[in-house]
This record gives sequence, C-alpha cells and structure tokens, in this order.
Amino acid sequence: MTDTDVLAFGAHPDDIELGCGGTLAKLVDAGRSIVLVDMTRGELGTRGTVETRWEEARKAAQILGVATRENIGLPDGDLRATPAAKRAVVEVIRRFRPQLIFVPYWCDRHPDHAHASELVYEGAFLAGLPRYETGQASHRPKQVLYYMGWEEFSPSFIVDISAQFERKMEAIRAYASQFTLADSTYPETCLTTPATDRLIRGRMAYYGALIGKEYGEGFLIRGVLEVEDPMKARFSSF
Ligand SMILES: [Zn+2]
Repeated sequence: MTDTDVLAFGAHPDDIELGCGGTLAKLVDAGRSIVLVDMTRGELGTRGTVETRWEEARKAAQILGVATRENIGLPDGDLRATPAAKRAVVEVIRRFRPQLIFVPYWCDRHPDHAHASELVYEGAFLAGLPRYETGQASHRPKQVLYYMGWEEFSPSFIVDISAQFERKMEAIRAYASQFTLADSTYPETCLTTPATDRLIRGRMAYYGALIGKEYGEGFLIRGVLEVEDPMKARFSSF
C-alpha cells in the first residue's frame, strides 16, 4: 500500500462531510489522495437503515471525488477506546499510512463523536509504536487535525472552501434519509429541519468571513503551526 495523503475518520456516515467535506474536496482538486473511514454503520440512527446509509455514503464520496471509503464496523452508540477498537484503528492507519488524519473535535453533544476523537488519537499514537504488533510496519502520521461537529472552537487555521461549498452541500444532501423528509416513514429529527441547513451554511459563511472569504472550514491542532516567512502568511485582519 502506498502512502495516502489524508485519512478522514467519522463516527457515523455523514460526519466527515459535515465537518471537513469542503476541505477534502479541495484536497482532491489539488491531486491529493484521500481515504474516508466511517467507524460505525449508524445502526442506531433514527432515520434510514444501515444499507441506505452505506449507499448514501458511497454517493457522497463520489460527489467529493474520493474513490476509497471504508467502514470499520464498530458499535454505534458505544464507540470506546477499547483494546479491540484501538487495534482496528491502528490497522487501518498502518494500511493507508496517511500524512494527515482528520477526526471529530473532542467536545461534542454526541458521545460517539467525543469518543471517536479520543479513539483515533490513541490509535494514531499507537500506530507509530513498532512494538505494538499488528503484523504491519509502524506508521506515525504527521498531524491529527480536528474538525467541528456540534461544538465550535477557536480554529488553529481556516481553509477557504468557497469554490467547494456547493459540492460539500451536495455531498451532505446525498444523505437523503438523514437530511430530508423524502421518506416519511421515519420521524422528523433535528437534522431534517430548515434550521439545520441554515446552521451548516451560516457556520461556513462565518468562518469564511473571518479570513475574508465566502465560505470556510475551521480546524484545530494540539500543537502550533510553523510559518516559514511571516511576510507571505495570510493573516485575518487585526
Ligand atoms: Zn455523527
């Protein structure tokens, strides 16, 4: 397996699109190799089935231009940094050998999102330890980047996704069972309300405005970003 540029993890199908879909589309446009990993099949979701959600996830990946999407089948509603779950994460990291890993922010109203964050962080760390045995070569990614779920944070940096915004929204709409009332056999959820659509658009517009652009996605890192030449850095206004 050749090294992958980016491995993006989500607790459920649709988390990745919501948190960093625009940035992933931009990386695809720049010729980067991307792999998406859904950690659960979303079997506890109020709307849709495991099968429809997998179909929707495949379609969403196509819209973003990503060829590879996997599901590691951990239990929905019970994502934990157990030894078995950590092993599954280490194995997928060592298989794709990414430089960057995208994961949900560690604070979130949905416990799975917070636990996914912790689980992938631990897995990314363990993947770099040669004595953690999986029968694969060890691999330490360069950095873990946190994307927003429900909770916001003050971003370490913001990516301009103005040119990819409509593709991101199209990828989100691919999850018709979650975001539309097309199939009325399921009850309404907060995701099917117009307020959610406004929230998604409004947030991207807000973070875009902070860097003087139309739309943006914010990311958090645990460390700091090195700037090679302050004269060439693009700063927001002070
Ligand atoms: Zn989720």
